[in-house]
Amino acid sequence: MKERTLAIIKPDAVKKHAIGDIIRRYEEAGIHPIALKMSTLSKSTAEGFYAVHKERPFYNDLTSYMASGPVVVLVLEGENAIKTNRDLMGATDPKKAEAGTIRAAHGASIEENAVHGSDATETAQFEIGFFFPELNS
Ligand code: ADP
Ligand code: MG
Repeated sequence: MKERTLAIIKPDAVKKHAIGDIIRRYEEAGIHPIALKMSTLSKSTAEGFYAVHKERPFYNDLTSYMASGPVVVLVLEGENAIKTNRDLMGATDPKKAEAGTIRAAHGASIEENAVHGSDATETAQFEIGFFFPELNS
């Protein structure tokens, strides 16, 4: 099933100049960017995006980190895009991420783990609408 997912190349991966490598992985996996922008999120934008995590102990650190430098936000489209991207990303903790995944290659820590990817149909819809309201049908 062709679907869409939201991905973010996080500040640590942008700083390491890994944008090109990460987008190449998306394209090779058949999940193609249909919208893309680079920007530095405000703290309140990061808080809104991660509102689902607001009770978690790492919420304040996570949202400060996500606002600490430029990110690349993408909508990816392809067959089973949500799961394809989650498989490409690897586990949240780069130390546990399978070899060959983006987080194994570029993640620095459980927080600075290179990429975000929507985890389900409903979250993908919310996240795409959050950054690209013009795309939501
Ligand atoms: P994922 O990004 O794999 O879907 P979660 O949705 O659980 O993971 O968490 C969102 C983000 O919060 C993670 O990608 C990571 O940047 C950060 N995070 C998750 N768990 C922790 C933790 N225990 N300590 C610090 N940061 C964390
Ligand atoms: Mg998540």
